[in-house]
Amino acid sequence: MIPPLANNFVAGETTDGAVSYLESLNQDDVAGILNVLGEHYTNRAEADADTEEYLTLVSQLGSTDLDGCISVKPSQIGLDIGDDVFRENLDRIVTTATEQDVFVWVDMEDHTTTDVTLDAVCEFGRRTDGNVGVCVQANLKRTSEDLERLADVPGKVRLVKGAYNEPASVAYKKKSEVDSVYRELLEYMFSEFDDGIAVGSHDPAMISHARSLADEYGTPYEIQMLMGVREDEQRNLAAAGVEMWQYVPYGDKWFQYFYRRVRERKENALFALRAVTGL
Ligand code: FAD
Repeated sequence: MIPPLANNFVAGETTDGAVSYLESLNQDDVAGILNVLGEHYTNRAEADADTEEYLTLVSQLGSTDLDGCISVKPSQIGLDIGDDVFRENLDRIVTTATEQDVFVWVDMEDHTTTDVTLDAVCEFGRRTDGNVGVCVQANLKRTSEDLERLADVPGKVRLVKGAYNEPASVAYKKKSEVDSVYRELLEYMFSEFDDGIAVGSHDPAMISHARSLADEYGTPYEIQMLMGVREDEQRNLAAAGVEMWQYVPYGDKWFQYFYRRVRERKENALFALRAVTGL
């Protein structure tokens, strides 16, 4: 069982647990992006097992009227084993999810995976007329060109700042630089994308920038944040009529994910300490 502290960030270990969390989330008008925790598999059995888990999940979501979709990591469904394994498993997930009317996000991992991820998403996005979306990272110098390519592909695009420690040859390293590029890329998306913009950020400055751009351009958009992060603000935004999606990880590999969330912010670490010491 997931201890009380970790369950602020992770919605249980099972599909049933994640779906029941989604039900409660929807009551606050927040939709859920369900992610099975797992990455960097080097043997096929693990990649296939997580693919099966996504197939079970989309069937379950498809049989309800809950506001939910899924998000998949390329290395979780076989990218480290081979491009063909990744494409084969993504194909299975996208085909079943499209039959069940469940949207599929593809997370973006480090820059060595960007080409193969975008190639697959462009192909499946066209084939399903937009039932697939992809994440792109403002810290990568290539992203403005990638967005030009994605502007012609049906499907949504999530803009994030980027979670991977990339080399300076391919990435902006200064936070101020990444923030400024994020703003520029958002403006490009609002001006060039017909729909399907997802603002993947907890940053109040980026969210307020996105809301002003939406007023200026009238383009539909959504905001996405992680489970356990600024949840009051997530509910406030939903109550103000913003389309709000929460990224909801679950599964038995919760410890590493929880540990990362605690380490990345002092407030989370203090929160963890208080829960343990009772202070
Ligand atoms: P930061 O630049 O980290 O912080 C800016 C401000 O935001 C802070 O000063 C604070 O006011 C607020 N804030 C940020 N974090 C917190 C917190 N924990 N608690 C309270 N306030 C906070 N990265 C990838 O590389 N690939 C992906 O596929 C990917 N998918 C993502 C999906 C979603 C839905 C989200 C939200 C993020 C995803 N990321 C992904 C991570 C992303 O790249 C960033 O590393 C992460 O979101 C931190 O950047 P930020 O814009 O949220 O804010």
